[in-house]
Amino acid sequence: MCTKSELKEKMISYIHMLPDSGWVFSTSGNMSARCDDGTILITPSSVPYTLMKAEDLFEISPTGEILVAGKNRPTSSLRFHIALMRERKDCNCIIHTHAPYCLAASTVTDVVPAVTLNEKLLLASDGILTSPYAENGSEEEAANILKAIGEKNNCCLMQNHGVVTIGADIENAWIHMGYAEDCCRIWLLAQSTGRKVSYIE
Ligand SMILES: [Zn+2]
Repeated sequence: MCTKSELKEKMISYIHMLPDSGWVFSTSGNMSARCDDGTILITPSSVPYTLMKAEDLFEISPTGEILVAGKNRPTSSLRFHIALMRERKDCNCIIHTHAPYCLAASTVTDVVPAVTLNEKLLLASDGILTSPYAENGSEEEAANILKAIGEKNNCCLMQNHGVVTIGADIENAWIHMGYAEDCCRIWLLAQSTGRKVSYIE
């Protein structure tokens, strides 16, 4: 349990780490977190991460209305954040990035089978699925992501776009993003040998 302002400050501390994570370039990507009262905090569009402040975040209702405006406008990915928060009650944080190994994998496969135990245990027990390409911010994009994450996965790739991870809290979603990039890197490295790649059943 934490107050809305504490959650905003916590979110900002993670947002400030995004540029060094290697998962985003410029203002690409976005992030949301759910407060105890159900309000969703979400990043604004086109604000550099290192300059982002707590008051720049938008407060959104569970159905997507702006309750408290931040800077510019809410991220263009608002639809899939709202949809995931609605369908996954166990999820209180969503991170979307263009992490390069995840994005590269999304262009060559529908699924990254379980190459590591962390992928199987923490991200997606049957492998990370790629949600088909759809227009940025569209209903179709939200539906594709919902389907790929489903009821039990914590990650999906977005074809030719990037990756989404969810978690019970900000730390959790952040760790999932790190593992997603790590396992896509390992899978691509293994694939690049041209040898048969083994998977965890
Ligand atoms: Zn994106």
